[in-house]
Amino acid sequence: MRLTELRAALDAASLADEIGAVLADIFPLARSVTGGPNRATIDRLSELAPWTVTEVASGTPVLDWVVPDEWNVRAAWIADSTGRRLVDVADHPLHLVGYSRPFRGQLSRDGLDPHLHSLPDRPDLIPYRTGYYSDGWGFCLSERQRQTLGNGPFEVCVDVDLSPGSLTLASAAHPGESDEIVLVTTHLCHPAMANDNASGLAVIAVLNRLLAGVELRREHRLLVMPGTSGAITWLATHRDDADRVAAGLVLTGLGDPSPWTYKRSRAGDRVMDRAADAVLAGREARFVDFSPYGYDERQFCSPGFDLGVGRLTRGVHGEYPEYHTSGDDLAFVSTERMVESLLVILELLDAVERNHRPYNQLPHGEPQLGKRGLYSLTGGAIDSASVEMAYLWVLNLADGDHDLLSIAGRSGLSMDAIAEAARRLTEAGLLDSSPPV
Ligand code: ZN
Repeated sequence: MRLTELRAALDAASLADEIGAVLADIFPLARSVTGGPNRATIDRLSELAPWTVTEVASGTPVLDWVVPDEWNVRAAWIADSTGRRLVDVADHPLHLVGYSRPFRGQLSRDGLDPHLHSLPDRPDLIPYRTGYYSDGWGFCLSERQRQTLGNGPFEVCVDVDLSPGSLTLASAAHPGESDEIVLVTTHLCHPAMANDNASGLAVIAVLNRLLAGVELRREHRLLVMPGTSGAITWLATHRDDADRVAAGLVLTGLGDPSPWTYKRSRAGDRVMDRAADAVLAGREARFVDFSPYGYDERQFCSPGFDLGVGRLTRGVHGEYPEYHTSGDDLAFVSTERMVESLLVILELLDAVERNHRPYNQLPHGEPQLGKRGLYSLTGGAIDSASVEMAYLWVLNLADGDHDLLSIAGRSGLSMDAIAEAARRLTEAGLLDSSPPV
């Protein structure tokens, strides 16, 4: 089965059920750059289809970085003088600043306050903070909760283990006919937030299941790994694979109410960028140019790699009030929107798969289509009028200067219609991958 046929056979309602079940299970886990909850997340994703897990030891040099020590939390809380827990990471993983160092002691309110993080402008939300490269510790809480803490003294416990371990990478390779790779990645490092980043994890798990057994032109390599350090570790340990990346997509934020946002690759006009132009043309979507800030496109599009990797999200980091707070919860996302995102991702991958540069074998005058039976076919989800118009566009522009994505762009027709027309014209002998002799 090809990707096009797979797409036509999908049932949105059952995909929503599947995504919802994964999301509900992985949402509460206290993911970080490293640690047990990351492995538990991958275990849950593996129930749909297998992932190959690689552990890279702390201290391993990776490009200009070093794989960090592993961080695991046993307990973390602030109690009053009677022992009553006022803030407890057991209630919400966001309460503890990520990578907090161990601490145990008594503090006054003045001593405690510099270690507290809240959002006065969004007083009901717990912020998400990390301190990978600081030596301190901290707690996050809602502004309302902060105002009820009192004056202390406080007993503070940060019982965490920060010691040499490993960073966990998960990959799934779906082989193709060529050596080229299409990369699809999402990050695995955010605790208990649904849109960023559990939505990407749930969607990529289902994508991994769907791609199993699909006949592909290029290998499709899916990666799940902590943001920044994971991408840098993968690039450092897969230089040969990176050289084979023909296109790629970074995913996250796939379930919030915003329309889609496609962020272009550094070059801006790579095949995934052009696929996004074609696929998102008929949808509510915006395009943003590459900038060296964001998710792992920063690493894939660093100048030494300069891969043709774009990014698909709905809302953009920092632009919605729930971003990086406890407001990014299961109620903030919908499984229906995540399914819509999955279908767009499959359409993007299919557009990249089917793109090629055809040559009209009878370029002098229009070939007679009726006698070749080309008007009698109707097919799939594409209306026959679009395909018939697409015949004319493909034949006219199949001059070796245009690939199917550029024909789709110039004609204003969908890539599905253009690719289906090209398939039928090729079957009829009117198109070939080389010029007519
Ligand atoms: Zn984030």
